[in-house]
Amino acid sequence: MIVSSDRYATVLLFGAPGVGKGTQGKILAQVPGFYHMSTGDMFRTLDTHTGIGRQIMEYMSRGELVPDELTIKLWRENTHARSVLSHYKPHEDILILDGLPRNVNQAQMLKFDLNVLAIIHLVCHDKDEMVKRLRRRALKENRRDDAKEEVIRHRWEIYEEETRPVLAQYDKEIIHEVDAMGSPASVLQHILEELVPVQSAHFHRLSKSD
Ligand code: AMP
Repeated sequence: MIVSSDRYATVLLFGAPGVGKGTQGKILAQVPGFYHMSTGDMFRTLDTHTGIGRQIMEYMSRGELVPDELTIKLWRENTHARSVLSHYKPHEDILILDGLPRNVNQAQMLKFDLNVLAIIHLVCHDKDEMVKRLRRRALKENRRDDAKEEVIRHRWEIYEEETRPVLAQYDKEIIHEVDAMGSPASVLQHILEELVPVQSAHFHRLSKSD
């Protein structure tokens, strides 16, 4: 039988491209006991001189999802490597996953990998503001995918059609909507209001199992 302790204790950072998942994930990563991992960042570190790196970069620059089997395989290998190196301590840390799962099939494939404690759903209805954010980031980080408006639109279509339905795979009680407008500090404050009790409960479980 698979029990929850065999799976990674996880919080999902969820929301459309440009909503600020990466920004908030990087801030949360500074909190001891949280370990942030972004599949987009994982793909961007791949060597584009290799066949697989080039292939993945092509999907990304078109704003398309990387195929599920490949995504999950690379994510499993990467997570395992980080835990072997002790960067990520699965028995202590809560994994803050940003950008995964990205469709219902991935959510199903990850059922026995993840123990999802909470989902932070960052919500922003102001598309113009999100285009601005994505453009700014594309310039700053030299991201080809968000440099073109048509690719940004395509990434949103995929979010609406494939990613948003992922929410229905999880218990409503663990989904917390957070308004993504406003300053990074105020968004962080609202995220922490949801995550402080989640981390406290996790610490409590750990101390009981010692
Ligand atoms: P992000 O940095 O999360 O905006 O992701 C950038 C790009 O990486 C996406 O547009 C996809 O091409 C790819 N990507 C990131 N996460 C996934 C995933 N879970 N499944 C498939 N493709 C992904």
